[in-house]
Amino acid sequence: MQLREPPLITYNSIQKRVQELAFQISSEISSDNLQVIIVLKGAMFFASDLLKSLPPVSSVDFFKVCSYRGNSSSGEIEVQYLPTDNISGKKVLLIEDILDTGKTTSFILNWLCTQGPQMIRLCVLLKKIKSQTVTHINADYVGFEVEDRFVVGYGMDFNNMYRNLKDIYVLEFD
Ligand code: 5GP
Ligand code: MG
Repeated sequence: MQLREPPLITYNSIQKRVQELAFQISSEISSDNLQVIIVLKGAMFFASDLLKSLPPVSSVDFFKVCSYRGNSSSGEIEVQYLPTDNISGKKVLLIEDILDTGKTTSFILNWLCTQGPQMIRLCVLLKKIKSQTVTHINADYVGFEVEDRFVVGYGMDFNNMYRNLKDIYVLEFD
């Protein structure tokens, strides 16, 4: 198992894209009354950079799920933390690391919808280009579209490793 060099996406290009996304989001959604929900742990670096470039939002909360075992989706979603801020009638911005099969995101969106928000917008750092669509989830804001390979770094892990890498790499398996 090794990191493929050079990085797939460098920290500098992530920062540039984050600025563009922040500009786009803040020109489309007013941040007062906006509740941000970050999907842990993978989206933590991305969300923290993005939030620093947004005007003040009304709350930041978390959703923690586990669906991956190693480098493949287990298909079963285990909820480890649910947001506690009341989102009923509120505008929500959900921040995710990767849209892969879309199963995790669709599970989270369904749960959030049961809480009666006024609207939900989805922002993902990476969207994998799949040969077949598994679930039809439309992200409102996408950082980068990437090849369908397993990636790590900038918050994203393999069995909890590589999360703290600055750049995003493809992880190659022998
Ligand atoms: P999905 O349910 O869309 O198939 O998978 C979504 C979640 O699986 C992502 O939010 C992410 O946590 C994890 N995941 C999917 N692809 C990758 C990947 O290439 N690398 C890492 N580190 N996690 C991934
Ligand atoms: Mg995730």
